[in-house]
Amino acid sequence: MNGIRYFDHAATTSVKEDVLKAMIPYFCIEYGNPSSIYSIGRRNKKAIEEARKKVAKVINAKPQEIYFTGCGSESDNLAIKGIAYSLKDKGNHIITSKIEHHAVLNTCKTLEKEGFYITYLNVDENGLIDLEELQNVINEKTILISIMTANNEIGTIEPIREIGQIAKKNDIYFHTDSVQAIGNMKIDVQSMNIDSLSMSAHKFYGPKGVGALYVREGVPFTKIQDGGHQEKDKRAGTENVAGIVGLGKAIELAYNNIDEYNKKLTELREYYISQVEKKIPDVKLNGHRNNRLPGNVNISFKNVDGGELLLKLDEKGICASTGSACNSGSTQPSHVLTAIGLKPEYLESSLRITFGEENTKEDIDYLVDNLEEIVNKCRHV
Ligand code: PLP
Repeated sequence: MNGIRYFDHAATTSVKEDVLKAMIPYFCIEYGNPSSIYSIGRRNKKAIEEARKKVAKVINAKPQEIYFTGCGSESDNLAIKGIAYSLKDKGNHIITSKIEHHAVLNTCKTLEKEGFYITYLNVDENGLIDLEELQNVINEKTILISIMTANNEIGTIEPIREIGQIAKKNDIYFHTDSVQAIGNMKIDVQSMNIDSLSMSAHKFYGPKGVGALYVREGVPFTKIQDGGHQEKDKRAGTENVAGIVGLGKAIELAYNNIDEYNKKLTELREYYISQVEKKIPDVKLNGHRNNRLPGNVNISFKNVDGGELLLKLDEKGICASTGSACNSGSTQPSHVLTAIGLKPEYLESSLRITFGEENTKEDIDYLVDNLEEIVNKCRHV
């Protein structure tokens, strides 16, 4: 890839060739509007329905429970606001965690201004919520729990099945932001008692600008955008047909060989951790040691500035991240690393490496060699 070593698959991935091939006809040949009744329109509608079936199959949902959106952030907004607005006469309490993506946190902040009351659960040093704390904060006004499946910065996988059980037992709806998880782990909305789930195609080798939302049949859910009647009147706007076809193809391909893919990424992850721990002193692995996304490693390098580290790596053709790509303009320390209680000398020195299909052990050797040199030069104590 143009001499670049890309280790930022949690930020985005390249579009797979087969995904692109599936999308191309829908730009210039099959360009009809899916709402049109003539054949080119109907064929577009059919293509959307095929993609819907593919998404549903992967997460064990029904096709009619899948809604296409413009991105993961939109899916989170639609799910949380959609459920909250529908149930505001029943209750106004929502439970989430301190380490959610801003797509969830800022949605909750907006709801707070509108009279909802939000509990932000703490996490432990590994980034896990406490199930007992979750159970204890539930009250008669609680309508929704929104906890991410896996964290975008530190990769920790939350106890989703157990959260689903607690939600079901207490008759509360459960939304999970699975934007980082889909394509990287198996999810079954039935056995995990998930009522609503967000995903985004560009995280699993699909195109940017298209997402999907699962909402279990029967869950009250109000549209938040006015307009036409697309997506069963839940998401107005002419559908991004090429994008939706791409999302469908990408999710199908991702789950065709998910076990093999996860095995490869886990091996790369473990190799990278072992090399860094062997060659560079004063490092700290952030997130759960094992219960983490297969391709995610977040390591802090004591007394090294994370921003400087990124720039120096970029000079060597290495793409990595200090946290969420969506936050790269921020000067605040990461809310996730703050929530897991990192000491100041580790707080602003984290490097997130997220592996993907094209990475090899040789790439990791190149990365670690450069890291060793740069960290030695950049440590400021
Ligand atoms: N949720 C999580 C956990 C994410 O990591 C991201 C993006 O990084 C989003 C939501 C937002 O997804 P999108 O970029 O498709 O809006």
